[in-house]
Amino acid sequence: MGKALIIGAGGVAGVVVHKCCQNPDVFEEICIASRTVSKCEALKKKLDGGKTKIQTAQVDANNVSELVTLIERFQPDIVINVALPYQDLTIMDACLATKVDYVDTANYEPEDTAKFEYKWQWAYRDRFKEAGITALLGSGFDPGVTGVFSAYAQKHYFDEIHTIDILDANAGDHGYPFATNFNPEINIREVTAKGSYFENGKFIETDPMSIKKVYDFPQIGPKDIYLLHHEEMESLAINIKGIKKIRFWMTFSQNYLTHLQVLQNVGMTSIEPINYEGHQIVPLQFLKAVLPDPASLGPRTKGKTNIGCIFQGVKNGKPVTYYVYNVCDHQECYREVGSQAISYTTGVPAMIGAAMVLTGKWKRPGVFNIEEFDPDPFMDALNRFGLPWHESFVPELID
Ligand code: NDP
Repeated sequence: MGKALIIGAGGVAGVVVHKCCQNPDVFEEICIASRTVSKCEALKKKLDGGKTKIQTAQVDANNVSELVTLIERFQPDIVINVALPYQDLTIMDACLATKVDYVDTANYEPEDTAKFEYKWQWAYRDRFKEAGITALLGSGFDPGVTGVFSAYAQKHYFDEIHTIDILDANAGDHGYPFATNFNPEINIREVTAKGSYFENGKFIETDPMSIKKVYDFPQIGPKDIYLLHHEEMESLAINIKGIKKIRFWMTFSQNYLTHLQVLQNVGMTSIEPINYEGHQIVPLQFLKAVLPDPASLGPRTKGKTNIGCIFQGVKNGKPVTYYVYNVCDHQECYREVGSQAISYTTGVPAMIGAAMVLTGKWKRPGVFNIEEFDPDPFMDALNRFGLPWHESFVPELID
């Protein structure tokens, strides 16, 4: 059916490549392109020889003209951006210049400001529309599947959704005293930022990790959950009819938070460059260099993730509560694709989102968040490609 250019060769990209190869009728040919070409070649070596043809390329995704040259050479039908959020705009610029569809898993943020907002990417709406190409934003798990779950709940179970609680639990244990499950720089920027939730038309800011509850997760058990800001709240607040309140919760162990507190207290999580023996270094980037590479956690991580959404609202004048979630086992993911569940739960939806656009199911000119499309074919694909979901109409609620 088509050709995909995959940019990035980290933990998530590894899963995207595996999943494209499991779907060769849609992904006939892929090119894995990243800054460090040896990582692309290592992925090709693992998967070459199947029905999907694989090429590799070296590219600096901060450089629009390098990207344009690569796109003109490979002629993809879609670009799957699984590099870092800093590269979103340059990759979107290259897609505009070459009129190729675009998918990503995280919203743009400037490297020098830890601020998660869609405004930069939404500013491309008219240009993508005029060029007749589709940009699908946030096709990971959260953002991503959480938006698809919201669209599915709205379509099938509610006239109006009033509250959404997004719950992201990771009960995996990698055996290290401290490591992050995906890119440490992005992860630490996210959890050290102020929290926020949406209520009655506006966002209310909270101090980092200041709101804590305990939730008893299906298949995992009780865990401490903390309120965080998360990017999908911004688009869901606009796209879900009648919404009054949205909160995002993530589990953290006391051990993780104690390490983070110490690193913060000594200045290691700062994104302000400092001068060290004549070199400008960013403490958080140095910390990333000494922490375990998330891609290396796969063989060590045991346990499960559970990510889902609890919706409350009304249907035919009656109150309705609906919980939809996926449970993913770190070791099963590793056996299947050689990665832990965090990369797996992001990479599978990235492939599915790209397949939705490539097959024409979600092809519409403009820039869209995932909940703006028909959720049904995506929900079917989640079941087929390794992220089956479960439903409950009587879940435990968060007060
Ligand atoms: P990694 O750090 O493992 O991989 C990032 C990859 O991008 C690396 O291969 C890196 O190259 C490459 N890269 C970085 N800068 C450039 C550049 N200038 N040009 C070309 N390639 C570049 O990250 P992950 O795989 O864990 O995460 C990938 C994306 O997924 C991130 O944007 C992250 O925010 C997002 N994500 C989304 C989630 C969701 O649920 N929506 C959950 C988890 C992650 P090199 O190897 O040279 O460093």
